[in-house]
Amino acid sequence: MSLPPGISEVLFSEAQLQRRVAELAAAISADYAGLTPLLVGVLRGVVPFMADLLRRLTVPAMVDFMAISSYRAGSPGGQVRLLKDLEISVEGRHVLFVEDMVDTGLSLHYLLRLLRERRPASLYVCTLFDKPRLRLVNLPLRYVGFQLPDRYVVGYGLDFRQRYRNLPYVGVLSADLLLADGPPLPSAAQGGPP
Ligand code: 5GP
Repeated sequence: MSLPPGISEVLFSEAQLQRRVAELAAAISADYAGLTPLLVGVLRGVVPFMADLLRRLTVPAMVDFMAISSYRAGSPGGQVRLLKDLEISVEGRHVLFVEDMVDTGLSLHYLLRLLRERRPASLYVCTLFDKPRLRLVNLPLRYVGFQLPDRYVVGYGLDFRQRYRNLPYVGVLSADLLLADGPPLPSAAQGGPP
């Protein structure tokens, strides 16, 4: 397979991703039998994973999205700002927080605290990718698709400067592109298309 410029290797093929998403959906469907969970995602990286996961659930499910402006660890204060809130109330609902990637865990930590204050009946996390070596806060992750080493990956929703989100697989960004272009902008804090 020929890779697009900037991608040095494929880490997870489309088939591998789909197989793992099906396994996660089966586990979630079993755990939530008899319930109607509310799946909550953070725009925009989670969109392909959320869509594939939703379609494979065998329990009825609701879905809603938030948007945040997050600052990576080391940047001013590590703040997280809410740009778009949920439209469905979480109070009394079984909430499953769906993430594409948990890295330092700082944005997730902030969002879980926010949701907990709204008194859901339960609150668990499902992430497709986990980089445990970079974690700065302790977070309970109930469902994890894949653990990743500290490498910058793109595709299947994950971007580098808003590009590569549409790749059906997950690939490693070539080091020369990362170095030449400087570090990626904080998620959701980027400007519009170039
Ligand atoms: P944190 O857990 O550090 O608060 O934030 C995780 C966010 O960092 C992810 O949602 C994603 O936007 C970004 N991120 C971390 N590692 C990667 C990576 O390897 N590739 C891409 N595209 N984004 C990443």
